[in-house]
Amino acid sequence: RFHHIKDKDIVKKQHLGSGTKTNIYLGLLLVRGGGEDDEDEEFNNNSTDRKGIPVVLKILDQNDKDIDMGFLETASLMNQVSHSHLVFVHGVSVKGSENIMVEEFVEFGPLDDFLRKEKASVTPQWKFIVAKQLASALNYLETKRLFHGNVCAKNILVARRGLEPGTTPFVKLSDPGIALSALSREERLKRIPWIAPECVDSGAPIGNVADQWSFGVTLLEICNNGDLPMSGSTLFEKERFYQQRGRLAEPSSQELASFISMCLTYDPVERPSFHTVLRDLTEIMIKNPDISPSETLPKTDP
Ligand code: ATP
Ligand code: MG
Repeated sequence: RFHHIKDKDIVKKQHLGSGTKTNIYLGLLLVRGGGEDDEDEEFNNNSTDRKGIPVVLKILDQNDKDIDMGFLETASLMNQVSHSHLVFVHGVSVKGSENIMVEEFVEFGPLDDFLRKEKASVTPQWKFIVAKQLASALNYLETKRLFHGNVCAKNILVARRGLEPGTTPFVKLSDPGIALSALSREERLKRIPWIAPECVDSGAPIGNVADQWSFGVTLLEICNNGDLPMSGSTLFEKERFYQQRGRLAEPSSQELASFISMCLTYDPVERPSFHTVLRDLTEIMIKNPDISPSETLPKTDP
């Protein structure tokens, strides 16, 4: 179940990028000044002059039934939840055979790009705040017995930079896109190391514990300023990495490293719940450890 948005109420603007079988555009969602939902000549004629809410239009590539269903399943999930650190999905517009998810536009874009650009200004404290915001969104889903299925830094959007003195960052977890169960095995292999190992082969129940693995990997990405060592690996190398139960390089802080390795256990039942994650993150944060990446990066003078 999701909210239907009329085609004439959206205006498509520039292309922002492409995702898993999607194309993403900046857009406007035109809102009526209240009253009846009747045909308004003036409104229709001047739709481009009218102010609208900035949105992102996620247009699904022409596809088969399964993919369509997997996309609408996500729209319906996102329409049922409400949390300050989850992106707001206005609804879906169906234009002929085209499905368009209409989602809140988040100004400063994906976290991985943001970190690569701003790594010189981002502090360990900043990273902890962001990690806690992400954990709070996932804890919310956990309490509702829901799961996300596509947690990664690319799917965390920066709403407030929090780089100016006296300000804090604010992030929102984006929608997971096409449901994991509707993706091909190859598509799932591409998502190594974010995808939980038990989710690579279809059939396995994808649950909340899968998000706990992805959260651990995302935390590493945040520590490493948006980069992960496996990004250049081939699908074959990625698959072998999981088969050999490979481990990703951990950050220099011992506390943080052991915390991340708890999330990154191949046995799903051993991973900590998000309730535990939130508690542990707070404890580690108080100790304010150094969370620079494992390889020593050149430091800039203060
Ligand atoms: P996936 O399901 O794999 O996440 P997707 O369809 O969500 O695929 P992304 O790769 O996550 O696509 O997003 C593509 C680009 O669109 C991002 O890099 C970002 O620049 C932009 N983008 C996506 N969502 C938003 C948003 N809510 N606000 C601003 N920009 C966004
Ligand atoms: Mg996305």
